[in-house]
Amino acid sequence: MPVDMHVHTTASDGVDNPEDVVARAKALGLDALAITDHDTLEGVEPAMAAAIIYKIEVIPGIELSTEHGGKEIHVLGYLMDLNCPEFLDKISFFRNCRVDRIGKMVIKLQELGIPVDIEKVMVISGAGSVGRPHLAAALVEAGVAATIAEAFDKYLGAGCPAYVPRFKVDPVEAVQLIRNAGGFPVMAHPGLSNSSSLIPDLAQEGLLGLEAYHPAHSRELSSYYCRLAEEYGLIITGGSDYHGPGHKEGISLGAQTVPYTVVQNMKSRG
Ligand code: AMP
Ligand code: ZN
Ligand code: FE
Ligand code: FE
Repeated sequence: MPVDMHVHTTASDGVDNPEDVVARAKALGLDALAITDHDTLEGVEPAMAAAIIYKIEVIPGIELSTEHGGKEIHVLGYLMDLNCPEFLDKISFFRNCRVDRIGKMVIKLQELGIPVDIEKVMVISGAGSVGRPHLAAALVEAGVAATIAEAFDKYLGAGCPAYVPRFKVDPVEAVQLIRNAGGFPVMAHPGLSNSSSLIPDLAQEGLLGLEAYHPAHSRELSSYYCRLAEEYGLIITGGSDYHGPGHKEGISLGAQTVPYTVVQNMKSRG
């Protein structure tokens, strides 16, 4: 009964639209998948509608970017009330901050003599949450960089000439936002942010799960996070962080899954 608990769509910086992701998940034999786009729930309803047709379960989710002590920490939220006004207001604010930030990055690029048009970036991002991958795609389209990776390496990565930091909340605030919307907060890929020192405090503040299984974690690292999760009473979760075919070193949908009991535990505890 495998479930992929971390999947992106075109509602943020994923390549597949929500319907296609659901169809792919079904074809792979998954029993459920969580849609976890950056700062938006827009992909959830179309995925849930497709899930009825494909006879698979979609778990509503989100991935919030936070910062603590200079480190970027991602917090996943599952099973929130999709109509909670405070939550919707807050994520809409986060998305507006993303638009402002990309606008500032475009200005920096123009100052560097690189012709890039904000409107093109917004067309590439579509209705969803705009991010640096969309700006990178615009640079590739304009022939400024050969690949998305090159666009990040030369211009968009932290410390690069066009980089502008994005507004981010503290992980405690993200945990509380998700809890207040009736959701289940999980620290995403702790191995990518090297943030295990935060786990005791976040568990105290209402964190309920830890994404121990992620393609970026070695087997040893996953075991380490499983032990930490047990120590702090957190549910162990995992997912692929799929962004689309050919994206991010070819990580495929379902590359990391957990048993459906994880979802059942969330539903009974969240
Ligand atoms: P943003 O949320 O706008 O800061 O963009 C972050 C996203 O950019 C991450 O979710 C990654 O998918 C992507 N990303 C970050 N660094 C790189 C990189 N070096 N190459 C390609 N994609 C990257
Ligand atoms: Zn992403
Ligand atoms: Fe993440
Ligand atoms: Fe992600």
